Amino acid sequence: MQAFSFHTPATVADAVKAAAAEDAKLMAGGQTLLQSMKLGLIAPSAVVDLGGIAEMTGIHVADGKVTIGGGTTHAAVAASADVQKAIPALADLASHIGDRQVRNRGTIGGSLANNDPAACYPAAVLGLGATVHTNSRTIAADDFFLGLYTTALAEGEIITAVSFPIPAKAAWQKFKQPASRFSLVGVFVSHGAGGVRVAVTGAGAVVYRESGLETKLAADWSAAALAGATVSADGLNNDLHGSAEYRAALIPVLAGRAVAAS
Ligand SMILES: Cc1cc2nc3c(=O)[nH]c(=O)nc-3n(C[C@H](O)[C@H](O)[C@H](O)COP(=O)(O)OP(=O)(O)OC[C@H]3O[C@@H](n4cnc5c(N)ncnc54)[C@H](O)[C@@H]3O)c2cc1C
Repeated sequence: MQAFSFHTPATVADAVKAAAAEDAKLMAGGQTLLQSMKLGLIAPSAVVDLGGIAEMTGIHVADGKVTIGGGTTHAAVAASADVQKAIPALADLASHIGDRQVRNRGTIGGSLANNDPAACYPAAVLGLGATVHTNSRTIAADDFFLGLYTTALAEGEIITAVSFPIPAKAAWQKFKQPASRFSLVGVFVSHGAGGVRVAVTGAGAVVYRESGLETKLAADWSAAALAGATVSADGLNNDLHGSAEYRAALIPVLAGRAVAAS
């Protein structure tokens, strides 16, 4: 471990000030950050613990939206009766992230800021057309995920909350990599006021919308509408866990299962 200063702000405003130090890093549950530090991938001069900021936790349902504080753990989302009632697919997604320990420490803000290409929450955020709230602005899901581990967040910008419009129908299907429990491929589908969305994680460098499947489902929201549908393997991930063709084959299958379950 390298030496670093440790800050425990109680408000978002104080966290923003502490994060302005050169090479400072925000920390939520530390599920990715601490391992990156232990492996020597990063050596921040200061760590700003967001865990004591009460205004960043909690879940509210109002005006057709579910709003989740950026510091809310996966376990809290999975267990929330409000989320289970309003967007059961979101509670389902949170309940299948990693293992019990990871769900008790990992947060929605940390997951989105990290933007791992196989993470689950980015699929829900893009698949529901959510809005990311930060200390300084709001960012639409379609503008948030820019590339491999890259988002629209500026250095030191803090995700304070995420608001999800409540859809008429939605569902999540995850084909997990059994060792890491991340998605080899995960597909989130929704049908709501904003139309049909099909978001895919794990298959590419960054979560993305599968527009061909969206067009078919907009015409006919049924699993049958995806029977025989194919997705190009061009540009998809190709690694020891699964070829690009394997991932491409999984996408319409998982999307069809999700629609059937919605
Ligand atoms: C064994 C294991 C299995 C996992 N399996 C899955 C899985 O199946 N699916 C899945 O989706 N994820 C999985 N994860 C990831 C995990 O769920 C966490 O979401 C992820 O590791 C981020 O953790 P964290 O919230 O503790 O953030 P941290 O590790 O504390 O931070 C991660 C990054 O986000 C930044 N950050 C944190 N909070 C904020 C914020 N509010 N605003 C701006 N930036 C912020 C930090 O500076 C850091 O760069 C797994 C992790 C582990 C260790």
